[in-house]
Amino acid sequence: MSKKIAGPEIERLVQLLARLPGLGPRSARKAALALIKRRQDLLLPLADAIKTAVEKIVECPQCGNVDTVSPCTICRDERRDPSLIVVVEEVGDLWALERAQVVNARYHVLGGHLSPLDGIGPDKLNIGSLVGRAHSDDVKEVLLALNATVEGQSTAHYITGELARANVIVSRLAQGVPIGGELDYLDEGTLAAAIKSRRQV
Ligand code: ZN
Repeated sequence: MSKKIAGPEIERLVQLLARLPGLGPRSARKAALALIKRRQDLLLPLADAIKTAVEKIVECPQCGNVDTVSPCTICRDERRDPSLIVVVEEVGDLWALERAQVVNARYHVLGGHLSPLDGIGPDKLNIGSLVGRAHSDDVKEVLLALNATVEGQSTAHYITGELARANVIVSRLAQGVPIGGELDYLDEGTLAAAIKSRRQV
């Protein structure tokens, strides 16, 4: 058995940090040390920020995004095009699209993808509320910006069926050659998708 090198409070801090994505036990220990060394300018503000987040963060009842206001900042933003809803699996996908600043629309966060083997059926995702929104007069198009995985695509297929009776165009992201991609390095699936979704120049 290895000897303990710190009190239980510090060990707990390390253990919790090690649960964060991208941090293993070794880097969690480094992070804990950095926090302890910089108690005033890092540890205390971080503890404050986490406490505020615990108290204030809520899931937006309209779109499933997380924010400290409800409805969320994006749903409240009147400068966004109300006719387009971009559907994503997770909040991280919404953040990625917002970072790219390529779309000025509202979103709908499903909270994952369909995965029957893990017991995740349509009732576990925010699909019912999406269908409700798609029936609103303002909405003209629903863009399914789901992952290009088997689960993402079968979720997109299911949602397309659910939206059949709503008066909206259902679109999805293009698939194919990435920007800066060299054909020689692409897998067969990506090449096949690129050929299939070719367009006239
Ligand atoms: Zn929202």
